[in-house]
Amino acid sequence: MDEISLYIHWPYCVSKCIYCDFNSYSFSSIDYASMELAYIKEMEYAASISGQRRLRTLFFGGGTPSLMPPYLVHNILKKAKNLWSPAHTPIEITLECNPESTNEQKLIDYKNAGVTRISIGVQSMRDEILKFMGRIHSVGSAIDAVACAKGIFDNVSIDMIYAHHFHKAPSCWTDELSKAIETLRVPHMSLYQISYPKGTKIFRQLQEGKFMPLDENEVADLYRSTDIVTERFGLQRYEVSNYSMPGYESEHNKSYWEYRDYIGIGPGAHGRISISEPNNKFRRKFAFQAHLNVEKWKRSIRSIGHGYETITPLSEEQLFCEMLMMGLRMREGISTKKIDEFLKQTTPRESSSEKFSEFWSKVEALHRRGIISMYDHREHKQNLRVSPNSSLLIDEIASFLIF
Ligand code: SF4
Repeated sequence: MDEISLYIHWPYCVSKCIYCDFNSYSFSSIDYASMELAYIKEMEYAASISGQRRLRTLFFGGGTPSLMPPYLVHNILKKAKNLWSPAHTPIEITLECNPESTNEQKLIDYKNAGVTRISIGVQSMRDEILKFMGRIHSVGSAIDAVACAKGIFDNVSIDMIYAHHFHKAPSCWTDELSKAIETLRVPHMSLYQISYPKGTKIFRQLQEGKFMPLDENEVADLYRSTDIVTERFGLQRYEVSNYSMPGYESEHNKSYWEYRDYIGIGPGAHGRISISEPNNKFRRKFAFQAHLNVEKWKRSIRSIGHGYETITPLSEEQLFCEMLMMGLRMREGISTKKIDEFLKQTTPRESSSEKFSEFWSKVEALHRRGIISMYDHREHKQNLRVSPNSSLLIDEIASFLIF
C-alpha cells in the first residue's frame, strides 16, 4: 500500500514577526471547537480521495502549533491514525514550537498524544536580533525551551535565520551559529537565509532604507561558512537549508523533496495527491490549495466538506518541474533511475519525449561546467546533484533544465 504524509496547518501566532509571509494571524480569541471540527471533517474528505494509504509522517506547522492545546493535538492524531494506518511504529510526528508558548507540561502532553519530534523557532542567539525580527521570546527563554524539549524528546530540531544586516561581518554569524550548536546541542538544524517578502514589515523597512541588506556574494560566503561550521560539529547539510547528525534528517520534509504524496489540512495548506483515473490505468497527481482565510476555510468545510479553494490536475511538465526543483534541493540529488522511471510513468497522451531528450543534453552541458555532478551515491546508483558551490542557484538551474 502506498504511503502518504500529512501536514496540519495551525494558523495562529501571538504576534506577527516582521519577515513573516506565512499564513498566520495574531488573535484575540480562538474557537478551538470549530477548528477541531474543521480539521476532522477535512481529514475525512482527504481520506475519501487519497484511497487506502499508510501514514508515513505527520507534521504540525504554522503559525505557532505550540498554541494548540494538547487535547486537540491528541484528537487530530487519533483521527489521522484511524483514517490512515501508520506505515510503521512509531512514525515521525513533528510539532513546531515557539519558546514563549512552550512549557514542560505541554511538551509531556504532546509526547503522550503521540508527537515524536519537536522543532523550536530559536531564530537567533542575540536578543537585539530577536527584537529586530519582532520575535517575542529572548535568547534565555529559547535556551530553556530547547533544554526542556531535549529532556522529553530524543529528536529536537531548531530553526535559525541568518544573512541579515547584523551579519555584515561574517564572524557575527559564524560565532552565533557556533554558540547555538555548542549551547543547544541538537541533532538537527534548519538554517534559513533572511528574505524580504513583499507586504511584510521588513520589506517596507528595506524600501525605506532602514538597513543595508547583504549582497549576493556576502550571502554566498556566509552559506559556505555555514557548511564549514556545521561540519566541524558533525552536522551534515543534507538539503539546501537543513543540517543533521546521521539518522536525524526530517523524514517529513524529505517527503516533499522526494516528491512523494502529501495531504495538507488547514487554512492555506497545500497538498499533492495522486488519484487513480476512473479506468484505473493511470494515476494523476493533483495540487490542492486550501483557502487562506480561516473563516472562509471553515465555511467551505461546513458547506462542501473541504476547505480547498482549488484542486488542479498537474500536467506532465508541471510534475517534472516540481519533482526536479524539489529533488535538486537534496545534497544527494535525484537518482537518474527515478528520473527515467518518472518519464516512463507519464500518461501517453501527454508524452513529449523530444523535450526530455533535450533535458539530458542540458544536463550534460551543466555537467561540463561543473554545476551539476553525477555521482554514485550507493553501489550502482547514480544521482544527479547540484555541486555544493551552486546550491543557491537551484531554481535557476531547474528552470534552465526544464524550459
Ligand atoms: S512565529 Fe513563525 S509563523 Fe508566526 S509570525 Fe513569526 S515567523 Fe510567522
